[in-house]
Amino acid sequence: MDLFDVYSLFDVTPVKALGCKVWDKDGQEYLDLYGGHAVISVGHSHPHYIEALTEQLSKIGFYSNSVINPLQEQLASRLGAASGYEDYSLFLDNSGAESNENAAKLASFHTGKDRIIAFRKSFHGRTSGAVALTDNPKIVSPFNAHHKVSFCDLNDLDSVETELMKGDVAAVLIEGIQGCGGINLPTESFLQNLEILCRKFGAVLILDEVQSGYGRTGKFFAHQWAGIRPGIITMGKGIANGFPCGGILISPEFKAVKGMLGTTFGGNYLAMAAALAVLDIIESEDLINNALKVGEYLKANIPQHPSIKEVRGRGLMLGIEFNTEVASIRRKLLFEKHIFTGVAGANMVRLLAPLCLSMEQADQFLESFKQVL
Ligand code: PLP
Repeated sequence: MDLFDVYSLFDVTPVKALGCKVWDKDGQEYLDLYGGHAVISVGHSHPHYIEALTEQLSKIGFYSNSVINPLQEQLASRLGAASGYEDYSLFLDNSGAESNENAAKLASFHTGKDRIIAFRKSFHGRTSGAVALTDNPKIVSPFNAHHKVSFCDLNDLDSVETELMKGDVAAVLIEGIQGCGGINLPTESFLQNLEILCRKFGAVLILDEVQSGYGRTGKFFAHQWAGIRPGIITMGKGIANGFPCGGILISPEFKAVKGMLGTTFGGNYLAMAAALAVLDIIESEDLINNALKVGEYLKANIPQHPSIKEVRGRGLMLGIEFNTEVASIRRKLLFEKHIFTGVAGANMVRLLAPLCLSMEQADQFLESFKQVL
């Protein structure tokens, strides 16, 4: 049987990784400034992470959500303290898309309304509901298009208010920083006014922090730079450093009803052991401050070049926008300098390094990048 051929693949076969380094099957070392789409938060194969998962697997790997799982309770309590959301509740699932679907569903249960406002250039995942919430015509099937979603321009408060005034909006869904759409930042005042408008019109503000959360921008969640408190926050990617896991934080205003949400795998013992180990490492290695320090150093030192239009982002969520297509730059970085980077659209190199990236590794990238330019 062949694999269904939907991914464009680089001809690299990673077989080993540690921290921000990856080795391929021929022993070639790479610097990882992408972390597999922002998934590797605390670094590859951290010894504490390996130990936690191995130990958990030797005890119990899985049982269903019909019994008490103390690891879920531990994670809720640790996550509440780490993020400043002690008074919120946690629902666990398996991915970013699933988190956004659960958030949309919960908002619609809570408000009794059925339309969602999302933003142009947004990305919220690949399941049907999440695709419907995503502004990318290439991935919308006829089925997805049936969902009731309206798109507004990022930072255009008037257009959001116009939609909210129609009275049928369950939620406004926005990324902490738009990732796949090209590292576009909502302004702090836009987020603050969005919170006020959602309250006024009885809509739930949902912050998608799947990519921008978990310390990546130098705060636990990117929206915390604006000092707002959304109704629901969605998580995925870095939460368990590559073990599939997602979740949503839910404000105390929501009432849980038995059976309202559910999942087979969400919150399983292995995912919980991984997620707890991630929080241990983030805290013991002060990785949120490291992400801010190294990220801002990188941003300030990206070389000026006539083909670079703008450098955007915060902490270790950075986009280098070019006037031209970046495919050849990325290939050179990968095959000549042995550095993994990401992309957003045709013209942007996207950097989503593990939060443990060192200053020396940042310098290694900057030097290589200069040479490639
Ligand atoms: N939301 C955002 C902002 C994302 O960047 C992504 C993935 O890139 C998702 C949701 C979907 O996450 P997953 O692929 O885990 O379903």
